[in-house]
Amino acid sequence: MKITKIFPRGYCYGVVRAIMMAKKVAKNHKDDKRTIYMIGMLVHNIHIVNEIRELGIILIDDRYESRLNLVKKFDPKKSILIFTAHGTPKNVIKYVEDNNFTYYDTVCPEVVKSFDLVEEKIKDGFQVIFLGVKNHPETLAMQEIDNNKVKIITEIDQLLKLDNSLKTAVLNQTTLSSIDLKVFYNKIEETFKNVEMHNDLCKATIDRQRPLFELDPTIELVIVCGDQKSNNSNALMNIVKNQGVESILVNDPDLITYDLIKKKHHIAITAGASTPTYITNKVIKKCNDIFDSINNN
Ligand code: SF4
Repeated sequence: MKITKIFPRGYCYGVVRAIMMAKKVAKNHKDDKRTIYMIGMLVHNIHIVNEIRELGIILIDDRYESRLNLVKKFDPKKSILIFTAHGTPKNVIKYVEDNNFTYYDTVCPEVVKSFDLVEEKIKDGFQVIFLGVKNHPETLAMQEIDNNKVKIITEIDQLLKLDNSLKTAVLNQTTLSSIDLKVFYNKIEETFKNVEMHNDLCKATIDRQRPLFELDPTIELVIVCGDQKSNNSNALMNIVKNQGVESILVNDPDLITYDLIKKKHHIAITAGASTPTYITNKVIKKCNDIFDSINNN
């Protein structure tokens, strides 16, 4: 029985940076009378969010309410705001600046690069297609750059409703599955006449997806450690499934059961960019323990 630990896996620099920033805010404002709020999950993993909450930072998350409406509920004299690594709509940033809030934006520099490119392309007269996941904070933030010129595409059929004669630039969410991206690209190339593509998958996303295209054919199950809400973890699942290999997404080591792996001879383990290393290590240990118990019987 064999366990392959896929490399690279787990934390990326953008996630580590956001966690460090949030911890520093908690430390620096320890004696502050104002309450610190994180507006949305700092990164998409509940374990990290809970760690941050334990520092006294309150999570405000309501998927039925826009980020702007959420921040409007706070008093700048009584609140300190932390924005997430996925990026925050620029109307929200403008609102908090206009109203003299103390705020900290943990947006990943890779996301900022995409924001900047979208703005540049709009200035140059392009229609911008942004390929993303519906209601993901990065996609919502991108939409706010220019509600008319940025066309958010989350499903292939939506492409057919756009004007394909316009000068068009195509960008995408940093954490999409490269397989999904290719499907979008094929359709765009077939449909649009004057188009330029900008692959915005970040390096961490590409590096974690690449080994899954070269899986050892003896691997029978890939365990992806990550949160259901984590797009980069779901993208890893998407790629494994596309190779015809069984996969499971787990954010709780207790989900690794004897029944799940008892008949497997070779499993592989990877982790999304926002998955804490201690969770992945616990999953690896659980698998090792189960295999050991089978070998000893
Ligand atoms: S996955 Fe990429 S875009 Fe997201 S936080 Fe990590 S480095 Fe940044």
